[in-house]
Amino acid sequence: MKTTSSAPVVVILGASYAGLMACARLLHSQRALRIIVVDGKSHFEQKIRLHESLTGQRTASLALAPLLRRRGVEFIQAEVMAVELASQHIQLKDQPALSYDYLVYALGSVPHQQLSGSKQYAISLHNYKQVSRLTPQIKALAQQSGHIVVLGGGLTSLETITELAASFPQLKLTLVCRQPTFANNTMAIQQHLDKTLNNYGIHRQYGQIQAIQAKAVLLHTGAKIDFNLCIDCTGMKASPVALTSQLATDELGRLLVDGYLRLPNHNNVFVAGDAASTNIHGEILRMSCATAMPMGAHVGANVAALINGQALREFDFGYFARFTSLGRHNAVTQFVDRSDRPLTQSATGYWATHYKEWICKMTIAIMKWELLTGLKLYYWPSSQRTSEQEQLE
Ligand SMILES: Cc1cc2nc3c(=O)[nH]c(=O)nc-3n(C[C@H](O)[C@H](O)[C@H](O)COP(=O)(O)OP(=O)(O)OC[C@H]3O[C@@H](n4cnc5c(N)ncnc54)[C@H](O)[C@@H]3O)c2cc1C
Repeated sequence: MKTTSSAPVVVILGASYAGLMACARLLHSQRALRIIVVDGKSHFEQKIRLHESLTGQRTASLALAPLLRRRGVEFIQAEVMAVELASQHIQLKDQPALSYDYLVYALGSVPHQQLSGSKQYAISLHNYKQVSRLTPQIKALAQQSGHIVVLGGGLTSLETITELAASFPQLKLTLVCRQPTFANNTMAIQQHLDKTLNNYGIHRQYGQIQAIQAKAVLLHTGAKIDFNLCIDCTGMKASPVALTSQLATDELGRLLVDGYLRLPNHNNVFVAGDAASTNIHGEILRMSCATAMPMGAHVGANVAALINGQALREFDFGYFARFTSLGRHNAVTQFVDRSDRPLTQSATGYWATHYKEWICKMTIAIMKWELLTGLKLYYWPSSQRTSEQEQLE
């Protein structure tokens, strides 16, 4: 990509799955651009492997500045404080404000921690620096056969508690969630999950959580579960920057976008990944790497199209499968239809473990490949709804 002093300035906020894919596709622009990527961290970290980092395992990362420099992209390591749409400026912590002609907002998500006492008495998986600081504490707890409670009935809680069980069999582990988890899977997967949790000796406690106290979780049933460490995996919310910038968001702080993933009434501002409230045929896409990468790639292409005077394309996406690790040597794969509903096909054990590992390796490899070579490698399924089907609904 060549740049000139008169080249339009595109600022990308966030250098994770969505932001880096947007950058890769922007590099296909026919017109010269000045691209500036901003992130609080110096490295791309694999958020989808944070539970592995928590147990002290090494996971691959990418140093952002040298990687982006190779394609003429500037990198600024700084915390984004606010976006000022009227003046087209980004407020950065301890650095001068940054102006843009086009903006890609991909600041992702943070742990929700909305349960009473969560911020004071529990930890959540946020980033590599934070989770790796917890590893010595977990190792020490394992030596004393300490008790860790993991809260939440989703995939993150499941991946986290099984990773802990596989790495530290001496730990006592309890999964606490509102209702029996995994119901949204085929019977084969449910049975495999049941068996796996039993084999690991993971205790399950069902009930609505009332509060987290200094050393115990309270349920509405009156039950009290004592712990040495509590990990809150009950959900994510979008980066708070959208709210502090007083932009229109949904209940999880995600920015409302149109079909082109663009802010309504702001033709030069696009949003991708966990930060976007993206509606496909009436369903809001769930926060995931699986949706962040397509959104990022699409936004990058749309910004380039806008700058090059070409037509924008509406975003389309269909789900394919849910890959869940259960420690390093076990996993489940639930194949789903384009609307994320489980199909009868599923995989467990050896094949599912390899699928999951392959997916994790591919996400980082694809982004690096596209950024370094400028060749497209990443494609995703469409929702496959025809206009006739939509008219019938
Ligand atoms: C333990 C765990 C396991 C997961 N497993 C899976 C999985 O198996 N499959 C799946 O599809 N999804 C999984 N997810 C979810 C997935 O990681 C996220 O949905 C995905 O990372 C979203 O990508 P993103 O690019 O939108 O945002 P993020 O990955 O959240 O990245 C946002 C980027 O913006 C930067 N940033 C944020 N705020 C600021 C600021 N104010 N200033 C400067 N920089 C900022 C951050 O440093 C970060 O680099 C998992 C999540 C967790 C926590």
